[in-house]
Amino acid sequence: MAPYPGARVKEVRLRVGALASVVEDSLQFCYGIATEGTPLEGSKLVVNAVPVVMRCESCSADVEIASLQSFRCPRCNAPVSNLLQGRELEIESIEIEEAEETVKK
Ligand SMILES: [Zn+2]
Repeated sequence: MAPYPGARVKEVRLRVGALASVVEDSLQFCYGIATEGTPLEGSKLVVNAVPVVMRCESCSADVEIASLQSFRCPRCNAPVSNLLQGRELEIESIEIEEAEETVKK
């Protein structure tokens, strides 16, 4: 955060896959504590849930898995194991409010 002195982070957007074992409520709670006294203090954490998508070898389709209890293709019911997305835990974007700009307005 050093390159932007006086800048304040307004919002942090995360991409969290359904398989990332992250509970949004706990994440929000920890975020508030972890950011106290940092340039991130008071910023908003936005969590974008990423659904689990797998490649079905039987019908060659990329399918969204609705239930994490059974990894089966919703089209042909074959078991699927080729994970394409759903394990993400990454920052999608960070919105910064520059201190100078705020003062000018
Ligand atoms: Zn299939």
